Amino acid sequence: MKIVNQIYVNGNFVKSTGAERFDTINPATNEKLAEVHLANSNDLDNAVAAAKKAFQTFSQSTREERIDILKKISDALLRRKKDFIETMVTEYGGTLQFSEASFTNALSTFSSTIEILENFDFERSIGVSKLKLQPVGVVGIITPWNASNSFICSKMATAIAAGCTAVVKPSEMSALQSQVIMEVFHDAGLPPGVFNLVNGFGNTVGTALTSHKDISKISFTGSTVTGKAIARIAVDTMKRVTLELGGKSPNVILADADLATTIPMAVYGAYMNSGQACIAPTRLLVPADKLEQVNQIAKTTAEGIKIGNPSERDTIVGPMVSVKQFERVQNYIRLGIEEGATLLTGGSGKPQGLDSGNFVKATVFTNVSNSMRIAQEEIFGPVLCIIPYKDEDEAIQLANDTAYGLAAYVSAADDKAAERVAAQIDAGRVCINGFSHDPLAPFGGFKQSGIGREYGVYGLEEYLEVKAILN
Ligand code: NAD
Repeated sequence: MKIVNQIYVNGNFVKSTGAERFDTINPATNEKLAEVHLANSNDLDNAVAAAKKAFQTFSQSTREERIDILKKISDALLRRKKDFIETMVTEYGGTLQFSEASFTNALSTFSSTIEILENFDFERSIGVSKLKLQPVGVVGIITPWNASNSFICSKMATAIAAGCTAVVKPSEMSALQSQVIMEVFHDAGLPPGVFNLVNGFGNTVGTALTSHKDISKISFTGSTVTGKAIARIAVDTMKRVTLELGGKSPNVILADADLATTIPMAVYGAYMNSGQACIAPTRLLVPADKLEQVNQIAKTTAEGIKIGNPSERDTIVGPMVSVKQFERVQNYIRLGIEEGATLLTGGSGKPQGLDSGNFVKATVFTNVSNSMRIAQEEIFGPVLCIIPYKDEDEAIQLANDTAYGLAAYVSAADDKAAERVAAQIDAGRVCINGFSHDPLAPFGGFKQSGIGREYGVYGLEEYLEVKAILN
């Protein structure tokens, strides 16, 4: 059995000195893969001290030097494509298709950040004042287990572009993936201290990072509950925060949309990353008079998808990340039935022949009322809720009737109608007729889906302080 005890501080791999241990379990088999030795607050202090020291020099680096570093990381990342993907598959059961897409996204953040950096004005003027946009300081980066490395790449790319140094704390469930990303950054030959990584639990190392006096900003991706806890702690030192949190994204199918193409796409979308995705379109809003037709297509699609071994290319739904997450999804499936939603397909229990891993049946509820808990709360599993609406106004009202506002989707034959509806939905990103990704477009949440934006120019500005010089 593998022992994972390395962290990365000041350009060196060092042993974590913490006493806490975490067992990495393959969720497809529930076999133990590794024992992770987690860091303690001393390890964290060393990492922050290294980042603080490096900031003195790195904050003064030129645009060209930062571009050069981003290119080197991108090259190093490309060399480790296979390991990046394989560790996602084995460590948390990411499907091969999703893991490959995550790699592509991770890589694209380097080229898009370079593109932005080439033209970004760090010095501007307004009225009679000169403006200087300078790096915010040492950044604490906290990531969740789902696509952890992809988030580390996008956050680090932006931090480096801004001239910030960073201490990264990935999820304790991502230690094998973290090993790969530490090696990528090491191979890229960054100046020591620009990138540091410590493994640790959220309530120990995560809290210590969030409350650390030498950290100027926290860039967090994870659940809304944790995001709120981080914001509360961060306020004591008045840290800047970017919070990328949960979602319960609506997928509005307008009356003229072609159901034969949009509904299968909607089902596949809801099951992205086995339903363990913040942007998954989990609430499917359909015209009430088309409900029967939608039900039929959704049922056939869900029953036709492959559930099982995440390393097989045609698998759509792999295992839930942990037994705890499996139980949580099971509870929601039971709750949906109790609340009176109609179970169209799937349901509680494991799919036939998949007893050893944390597998959940691809589940679709229909006749769901938007006020039900299954429609309001983030389930984070392959559970789709179909919600009928009377007219366009009601579709918009239902789409917005949620505490979240991360992503939304609209499908229609008439582009103008889709754009009209998109304009009225309270979400940071609305995709029309598909599930596209644009690394230049800002990403982030309205309402309880977060604070701030990532990616693109807006993302870069979150890592900068603006100083006005009046002369
Ligand atoms: P989580 O909130 O449990 O943990 C995320 C990270 O925060 C982990 O590294 C964890 O160790 C750390 N953490 C936990 N408690 C902490 C504390 N008190 N102080 C500091 N750090 C702490 O989330 P998760 O289960 O790992 O990930 C799933 C969640 O992430 C879902 O809610 C999902 O919607 C969300 N998510 C959001 C986005 C987005 O871009 N908006 C992307 C992916 C996932």
